[in-house]
Amino acid sequence: MTNVDDLNELAKRRGFFFPANDSYGGLAGFYVYGPAGAALKNNIENSWRAKFVIGEGHFEISTPTISPSPVFKASGHLDEFDDLLITCSTCETSHRADHLLKSQHTLSQSSDVSIQEFKKFLSMYSLTCPSCKNTLDDSTLREFNLMFATKVGPGSQTPGYLRPETAQGIFVEFPRLSSYARGKLPFGVAQIGTSYRNEISPRKGLTRLREFTQAELELFIHPTDLGPTIAPTTTKLPLYSISQQESNGTLESVTAREALDQNIISNRWIAYYLELSIDWYNSIGIDLNRFRYRQHMPNELAHYASDCWDAEVEIGGDWIEITGFAHRGNYDLSKHNTHSSDDFTMFIPLDEPQKKIQTNLNPDMEYFGPTFGKLAPEILSRIDEMAMSNSNIFDPPEINVDINGTIHSVLSKHLHPTTGETIINGEHILPHVIEPSFGIDRIIYSILAHAFHEDTIDGETRFLLSLPPSIAPTFVGIFPLLTRDNLDVIAQDMASNLRTSGFSVTHDESGSIGKRYRRQDEVGTPFCVTIDHQYFEDHTVTLRERNSATQIRIEANSIPTILESLRNGSSTFSDLV
Ligand code: AMP
Repeated sequence: MTNVDDLNELAKRRGFFFPANDSYGGLAGFYVYGPAGAALKNNIENSWRAKFVIGEGHFEISTPTISPSPVFKASGHLDEFDDLLITCSTCETSHRADHLLKSQHTLSQSSDVSIQEFKKFLSMYSLTCPSCKNTLDDSTLREFNLMFATKVGPGSQTPGYLRPETAQGIFVEFPRLSSYARGKLPFGVAQIGTSYRNEISPRKGLTRLREFTQAELELFIHPTDLGPTIAPTTTKLPLYSISQQESNGTLESVTAREALDQNIISNRWIAYYLELSIDWYNSIGIDLNRFRYRQHMPNELAHYASDCWDAEVEIGGDWIEITGFAHRGNYDLSKHNTHSSDDFTMFIPLDEPQKKIQTNLNPDMEYFGPTFGKLAPEILSRIDEMAMSNSNIFDPPEINVDINGTIHSVLSKHLHPTTGETIINGEHILPHVIEPSFGIDRIIYSILAHAFHEDTIDGETRFLLSLPPSIAPTFVGIFPLLTRDNLDVIAQDMASNLRTSGFSVTHDESGSIGKRYRRQDEVGTPFCVTIDHQYFEDHTVTLRERNSATQIRIEANSIPTILESLRNGSSTFSDLV
């Protein structure tokens, strides 16, 4: 199990991450990525981009982090993006009520439930304040909106919010994005960027931040699209389904194809992304023995999602969600379609134009104008819609039309319907959305936790980060054995040549060679080259591999080619040995 304190200490010491604004007392939930952390983050984002955007043929966009409040009114975040807050009346500290319920009674309850429902739980299970141990009083329970509010511009100041997810930026721009996709479904739009949530209790290193990075992919599909064909593979998915959770069962290890056949996963697109993603997690160093896909229990499911799975990893004995995979239906697009002035539908041409009998209204406007005023067009369009599903609608003398709960009676004799044949070329639909939503910071934390080891080399204990070479912040360390006899100049030249070839290189001259190796082991540098006096005899240098601490002698001139083959995976260190 990862010793989280040792990991956090190493992260600070070696420049991976540390709390921000420490000189001013800090502000919980905000972290800095130091030089090693920022490099690691870039590598992970680029690897995500290569896999999920470029590899899948999708678009990537970048949208603002602040949007005006109508966007979040439409998306539901203003009214519903809350956590339940409970405040201790003795010491006045605030806590997330659902977290306390989980930690004090091992009961999972979504924070989406109403206050009244939650109070029922509290009448059965009392909660104590983790800070002062007093019993918490449920009268302080309230909903706390997680969005950060701001005001934009001088003068009257437009209210705005920092985005709580990158996804809304994509949904809001859907009318333009669908035209870039030339009206063809499915198409995917991705975004990597910062999101903000005013979390009640930020905690556990990078796992619950108030500012964090998401990599989200919104795949827009036709409502009838059941997903791609999932071929049998050898890739096993560790699934923790609803039924296994209910019976406190174990993980089921099945392929995506088997999971669909056995009805463990109901949607082919979700199965597709779970399979694609496990491959990626493996490539970036997530330990698949400490990984699972957990299905949302019915009481956790967001109201708009029809099926949702989380990728979770084990760190220090806890399971942490790193990615959510959801079928969001047409919830987001229909909301923006209703609330904004734009059309969020897509026109999908039919393969073959179809003939259709259509009813046309020829209303007496002398009757409709004076009788219904401004409502006349809406009433007529409702009747038009009703006529599509019921051709007998004009038979009774009066037709009742419901507009926002008010019934308007229309005299049929003023409608003069005629029927004719029209050619239908296509239909307007609201696409559905499949969303894999990755939390980059939690992924970074998981990779570090899973790569973090302590072992003994030459009788000495060392901390080691066994990061995959493809994402390690530094690919190679170049050391002269001594800073004299021209060894330092040769090392500097080698470092600068490798940098020109696109390697990330650390050139280190300080301390004993053993200390220099330890430093690189702690930042996860997979290879180190040391130039010693033997170079003057046979032009060789040593190449050392991090995990095994094995060293081999290599022709100095071949170092760039060999490192390139190790970088692109065409050879491994053991091949060289
Ligand atoms: P959600 O929209 O809540 O499903 O979040 C999607 C992903 O964003 C999660 O799987 C997390 O990896 C990440 N995430 C959500 N909230 C936070 C947070 N407060 N700090 C860090 N990462 C987060």
